[in-house]
Amino acid sequence: MENRTLLARKRIALVAHDNKKKELIEWAEFNKATLQKHQLFATGTTGRLLEDTLDMHITKLMSGPLGGDQQIGALISEGKIDVLIFFWDPMSAQPHDPDIKALLRLGVVWNIPIACDRTSADFILTSPLMNEPFEVIMPDYKSYLNRNV
Ligand code: PGA
Repeated sequence: MENRTLLARKRIALVAHDNKKKELIEWAEFNKATLQKHQLFATGTTGRLLEDTLDMHITKLMSGPLGGDQQIGALISEGKIDVLIFFWDPMSAQPHDPDIKALLRLGVVWNIPIACDRTSADFILTSPLMNEPFEVIMPDYKSYLNRNV
């Protein structure tokens, strides 16, 4: 499988569960100037709140529990998302738990940077690699793809 090259302007997906939305919005407000340099995607409600905060267009998918998490997962598989910022709530059960797991799994399958808390999001956003092209080295799926079944 070919490596993927991320451009300097990154395509960032943002998702926050209800108890984490305030934290994500505060983080986004603080990092407004940096985030405005990139292209943003979000699940429906998170996207609506972020658009108000960041004064920029955000591609809004469906609300997470209605399929938004899966839409972001599909975009990751298609090589259309470069970074995932996912503030999931570790203190409450979610009705769409399988979707959350699936989204996190696809992020790892495609070896993209993922931040699930504010500190990791700060580390990712301040990385020099956010402003330059970067080659994502694909994990080796050859033997899986060529398996004899
Ligand atoms: P929401 O979805 O942004 O529409 O609230 C987030 C989620 O729970 O996945």
